[in-house]
Amino acid sequence: MKSFGWLRELAGFILEANCPLCQRSTPHELCQDCQRRILRCQLPEEDRLQAGQPPVFAWGSYRGALKQAIAVLKYHNQPQVARPLAQQLASSWLAGNPPAPLTVVPIPIHVRKRQQRGYNQADLLAKHFCEFTRQPLALEGLERSQETVAQFTLSPAKREQNLARAFSLGKAFCNQPPSTPVLLLDDIYTTGATARSAAQTLRRHGIRVDGIAVVARTSRD
Ligand SMILES: [Zn+2]
Repeated sequence: MKSFGWLRELAGFILEANCPLCQRSTPHELCQDCQRRILRCQLPEEDRLQAGQPPVFAWGSYRGALKQAIAVLKYHNQPQVARPLAQQLASSWLAGNPPAPLTVVPIPIHVRKRQQRGYNQADLLAKHFCEFTRQPLALEGLERSQETVAQFTLSPAKREQNLARAFSLGKAFCNQPPSTPVLLLDDIYTTGATARSAAQTLRRHGIRVDGIAVVARTSRD
């Protein structure tokens, strides 16, 4: 098969793309060096689960290469970055939580934002998370009902007000509520205002929310 060596070389050349974090060529979504840098942002096991309403399970700390990876996923049209991040979240979640069927619901973004971006990063993360964990997925469990002002411009109290009515029940649950409790899923957890508002919306409709899983959490203070 020696004569087909050139073909393999050509295929390899086509399949190699640039790592979106460091621009070096790699056959993977992220190069090995950047994968290692991301792993350094992983939270110690005892810090991943945080009590709250709803409780939050975070894979990493929102800094360094992990912060950079989330930024390219959201703002630089690199949807393929969702898979390795979701895989990390999924394997630590499986290791750290008792096995229980939970319907995974990604936190939606406003439809206009999704059109601009081409996708909702939480949808992609949730899809890959469910591929790894085999949990049922409800992509349209929630709907973003109102365009919210950019959260980072607001004080914590204003954030809550801004988000109080940000969600409504999505198409997936309107006719048929889920048969299991819900696990919300998002890329980042900051103040928890978004998660609280999403959970309250589901609870108002009698749907139990067991927690939220996120790729990264900002440090507490
Ligand atoms: Zn890289």
